[in-house]
Amino acid sequence: MRIGAHVSIARGFPSVFDNIKSIGGNCAQIFSHSPRSWKFKDVQKAEEFRERYKKEDVSPIVIHNSYLVNLASLDKELHRKSMENMRKEFETAEILGVNYVNIHPGSNKDVKIGLNRIVESLNDIETKAYLLLENTASGIGSEFERLRYITENITIKCGVTLDTCHTYAAGYDIVSNLDNVLDEFDSIMGLEKLKLIHLNDSKFELGSKRDRHEHIGLGKIGMEGFRNFINHPKLRDIPEILETPVDKRRGFKENIEIVKGLVE
Ligand SMILES: [Zn+2]
Ligand SMILES: [Zn+2]
Repeated sequence: MRIGAHVSIARGFPSVFDNIKSIGGNCAQIFSHSPRSWKFKDVQKAEEFRERYKKEDVSPIVIHNSYLVNLASLDKELHRKSMENMRKEFETAEILGVNYVNIHPGSNKDVKIGLNRIVESLNDIETKAYLLLENTASGIGSEFERLRYITENITIKCGVTLDTCHTYAAGYDIVSNLDNVLDEFDSIMGLEKLKLIHLNDSKFELGSKRDRHEHIGLGKIGMEGFRNFINHPKLRDIPEILETPVDKRRGFKENIEIVKGLVE
């Protein structure tokens, strides 16, 4: 199985390999720069990163975009910065030889205006990398139909990331009705579009629309929910990335061990 976590690259891009291996993972997600800043530094040690990416058993590596980006915004300055940021994100991915850039769709009170703004924005970006559109707990990205509206109207290559916490909080019951949720996703989006899973338990209940991650098994999805999810034949081959908390109870290493222990 492909299981990993969101890890730091504070000591340079190549440090992702040591960081992920030290916690027992074989795929990873990174921020290419501070996710709470608009600033980008020049990409350092790209050559070393590419070399190690070829050699090491760590794949895929995914870049997660900045929290500040909102492609659905009608605020001109925020939108301009968001576009500049997205272009930098894809440029960084190409320099590093990373295939996937994971983004949150963005927010706008008017879903229709927001969706069209996102489509328009993404169609103004050129890249060889894959865009991964992540579902959200609330707002524009919280319904499969809306994600499809985006993916079917954009020209860059794209797939979808399902976050288990977001899916559950959005009201899709992956605990008692996983088969139905997957059938629904398949008929709306097509399962072949599912390229990545963010594996997080949810602090809040089904349909709460609240995005608060919890350690695997300690939230509302629970241990049996994850056992069922991880072993589902339609999901077994999809890479899974943890974005669980790091606190006194556990870090990523412990959650990775727990997930591995659930595999049947
Ligand atoms: Zn996520
Ligand atoms: Zn989240």
